[in-house]
Amino acid sequence: MEIGKQEGKSPHCLVLAFPLQGHVNPMLQFSKRLNYKGITRITIAVTKFFLKNAKDFPATSFPVETISDGFDNGGFEKVSPLEYYNRCWESGSDTLADLIEKLRSSGSGIDCLIYDPFFPWALDVAKKFGLMAAMFFTQSNSVNNIYFHAYKGELKLPISEPEIRIPGGLPVLKPGDLPSFIGEYESNPERSEFMLKQFRNVEKVDWIFVNTFYELEQEFLPVKAIGPSIPSWYLDKRLPDDKLYGLSAFKPITEPCINWLNKQQNKSVIYVSFGSFAQPGLDQMEELALALKMTQMNFLWVVRASEETKLPKNYRDDVSEKGLIVTWCHQLDVLAHEAIGCFLTHCGWNSTLEALSSGVPMVGLPQWSDQTTNAKFVEDVWKMGVRAKKDENGIVRRDEIIHCVSYVMEGETGEKIRRSAIKWKKLVRDAVDEGGSSNRSIEEFVSALVEPSI
Ligand code: UDP
Repeated sequence: MEIGKQEGKSPHCLVLAFPLQGHVNPMLQFSKRLNYKGITRITIAVTKFFLKNAKDFPATSFPVETISDGFDNGGFEKVSPLEYYNRCWESGSDTLADLIEKLRSSGSGIDCLIYDPFFPWALDVAKKFGLMAAMFFTQSNSVNNIYFHAYKGELKLPISEPEIRIPGGLPVLKPGDLPSFIGEYESNPERSEFMLKQFRNVEKVDWIFVNTFYELEQEFLPVKAIGPSIPSWYLDKRLPDDKLYGLSAFKPITEPCINWLNKQQNKSVIYVSFGSFAQPGLDQMEELALALKMTQMNFLWVVRASEETKLPKNYRDDVSEKGLIVTWCHQLDVLAHEAIGCFLTHCGWNSTLEALSSGVPMVGLPQWSDQTTNAKFVEDVWKMGVRAKKDENGIVRRDEIIHCVSYVMEGETGEKIRRSAIKWKKLVRDAVDEGGSSNRSIEEFVSALVEPSI
């Protein structure tokens, strides 16, 4: 394919990511895939505050620019979702327009804006400049489907039905299976509205990308499934710039993890992580800590520095023979390690995709947001694990955690899950490989970028 819209140059994509680890990285990986397909001019845009705090920057060979969400010195967590949204809209629109203008006047004009729908106003800016525009959803397509139905008013909030039926091939859902921001509408309607605003402009955008793959989820609007958007070295296909994992707000402890895992037996270790954001309560952390101490298995537990005070007193010393606790790791390296037997996860979408891609069975302890829905699908649709049950106080107790770990690892149930794991691991690779569904979606987009009139 010949690339060249502007005097033989590749089209130029501006990729605008929302300032959360789990949003930035899949967009970065997607950019690498575009790059591999011939889109050599890609600029990443993040917020000023995010960039200032990204520890292992520069983690990309693409130029990185910034916009302002109105919170350059932080403080967004102290305002309401509506206030964030409004301030972000105002500052974001202005500074995004300034950035596009700046790039244009430096002879590096943008042809296409790829943006996170948490910034729905970005489409208005793109259209003002006559750019092609693409939304990039970093959550699952099933979650999109649920939010979209609520956005259209077809799913009435607050939820009053015990069973929720959403057209498009989703299983019957219970209120607890919905994203928490939908299920808990009454306690925080503003936050729910913030999530629904992702769909503002959805009818006007040129492309809708979702970080999923067709074989995993086929429901929803006519979207392009382009995922899983994770480093290609992991999926057996080395792309340029591949060693670089992504922008990170945390510093990974790499060698000690791998050295420790190298000493463990095959499929003997529980890997535990709640991602970059979730903050399990003190009671939950204690139950988890005790469950890990009580199991027969060794464990590698990521406890972010900000969460460390929730560990029981002297816990590290108490478990030093069987457990390694780190503040952050290279999760893909860990999941790929043969010592890992299961993943006790909050079911963030990236972690879920990474576990599916690694063929690692999951025990879901969803905390909030879309994690509840992902956990439901992991258990009931993809059969890749089990969702741990909470007690009447909303805590997953130690016995339940221990039970779930043995459920996914042992006996007939473990055997069944391992069979699913092998299936998904292969389907992921087929999807991103030449001729695969995600690969074709990306090629279709690249063709349209290169020859926009056809
Ligand atoms: N991650 C990592 N090291 C860790 C824990 C997590 O690199 O110690 C990465 C993980 O691989 C995933 C991301 O952080 O890509 C977490 O994203 P996810 O969507 O699972 O959860 P979120 O952080 O958005 O809640």
